[in-house]
Amino acid sequence: MIYSSTRNKNITASPAKAIIDGIAPDGGLYSPLEFPHIDIKGDGLINKSYEDLAYYIMSKFFTDFTKSELTACIHKAYSDKFIPGAIAPLVSHNGVHFLELYHGPTLAFKDMALTILPHLVKCALSIEGINKKIVILTATSGDTGKAALEGFANVEATEVIVFFPENGVSEIQKLQMLTQEGANTHVVSINGNFDDAQRGVKDIFADKELAKKLSNEGYLLSSANSINIGRLVPQIVYYFHSYLTLVRDKKLQMNGKINLVIPTGNFGNILAAYYAKKMGLPVNKLICASNENNVLTDFLKTGIYDSNRTLELTSSPSMDILISSNLERFLFEISNQNAEIIKDLMASLNKYGKYEISEAMKNNLGDFYGSFSKESEVKVAISETYNSANYLIDTHTAVAYSVYKKYLEETLDATPTIVVATASPYKFSKSVCEALELPIDGLNDFEISEQLFNKTKYPVPQNLAELKHKKILHNININKQEMQSTLEQLLKVGEQEWLK
Ligand SMILES: *Cc1c(COP(=O)(O)O)cnc(C)c1O
Repeated sequence: MIYSSTRNKNITASPAKAIIDGIAPDGGLYSPLEFPHIDIKGDGLINKSYEDLAYYIMSKFFTDFTKSELTACIHKAYSDKFIPGAIAPLVSHNGVHFLELYHGPTLAFKDMALTILPHLVKCALSIEGINKKIVILTATSGDTGKAALEGFANVEATEVIVFFPENGVSEIQKLQMLTQEGANTHVVSINGNFDDAQRGVKDIFADKELAKKLSNEGYLLSSANSINIGRLVPQIVYYFHSYLTLVRDKKLQMNGKINLVIPTGNFGNILAAYYAKKMGLPVNKLICASNENNVLTDFLKTGIYDSNRTLELTSSPSMDILISSNLERFLFEISNQNAEIIKDLMASLNKYGKYEISEAMKNNLGDFYGSFSKESEVKVAISETYNSANYLIDTHTAVAYSVYKKYLEETLDATPTIVVATASPYKFSKSVCEALELPIDGLNDFEISEQLFNKTKYPVPQNLAELKHKKILHNININKQEMQSTLEQLLKVGEQEWLK
């Protein structure tokens, strides 16, 4: 399969090359030029395990990987780091099905892709014959950093460096990162905010001279950002898997349609669902759920994307985003893969923070329904599901559930529906306790989780319980101007020469 930049179809890459590069050299996103077709009934998928189904789907996208390479990647990701048989469980409450994508090592759905990406990267290097160490560089406001550390820890031929704002992540998130094991992991806190960290990383990526210097030392910089095609494709798998589970459990007729409700930030998870639909998954509506940062809701209604607004800090921080990067791949599809159009739209976004798509493209928005939840509605969704079904959801999942209820009210659509649950309620226990009106004044994050457990008896994920007793292994704190020099120190740049 060939991938091309969304902004220039002459810029193409093999799957391995696209995974290594992450982003195309012109700033576009590598996208497949055609989509494999899957016949949900005829292909005989119904009894496949998660891993076998993952191979069936991913082999159609990563065509330059051998069967043994790809199965090994899949096995390393989903057998060791998840509980077998419970990789992406589906549970039914209140007439909907919740697809729980938070049973990986860091308790959020980013694990579904970040557990496999490192293995894909490592294979891709050998396929391309590149004899270098990959350095994964990430700025994080909490979730992605830990998931990247956990995914890349002890993976041969990789180093992972995470920068986080010293005062911009929760106590639990900080501990999750500072206790990370693995000799190839590096965690650095900076005196600054998330934007400072992000800017520093972008500057490092843009520095051609640094890239050359690192290359001479055998290093290649890359990112674990969600625009990497190696993160997107693994996310297609669980949509097919959950559909087949419903059929097997006799909750859905084979070939019957479903709705998918997805709490959305960067548009990655929902784009994977859109790809699944293009490949033949019987989907009626893709329901795009936003929090108060509702740029996408407006876009899906009007065809105008306008990021000129203030970023609201909500209780679903992983969706506090004004520029949804992966939307670019969707625009590429609804323009019939017209890279000229995408290039212009993205130039407009860059210059004015805004663009409007053509009437022809607007006519292709019909697969989607978009809406958003206010903070008060998120709280109601959490307390309602708990009180009526004894089911605990986190703030991100609550955004989706509350949007689904609006959709139902508006449309009376009776199609069976899957709500995607993207984080463990214990990852956001403070907000969950607030929604349930449990007293938490003066309690630290661990005590708040304990409070949530005592009240609900909802099982505490093992990774979280263990965290309290883990050793702090990282203690580097720097000023934001020192990011590049710290990177060089961590990679011991120059020292090899000095020794000679
Ligand atoms: C990243 C994230 C999302 C948003 O997913 P996108 O692919 O960015 O749209 C939703 N919920 C949680 C918990 C996340 O970590």
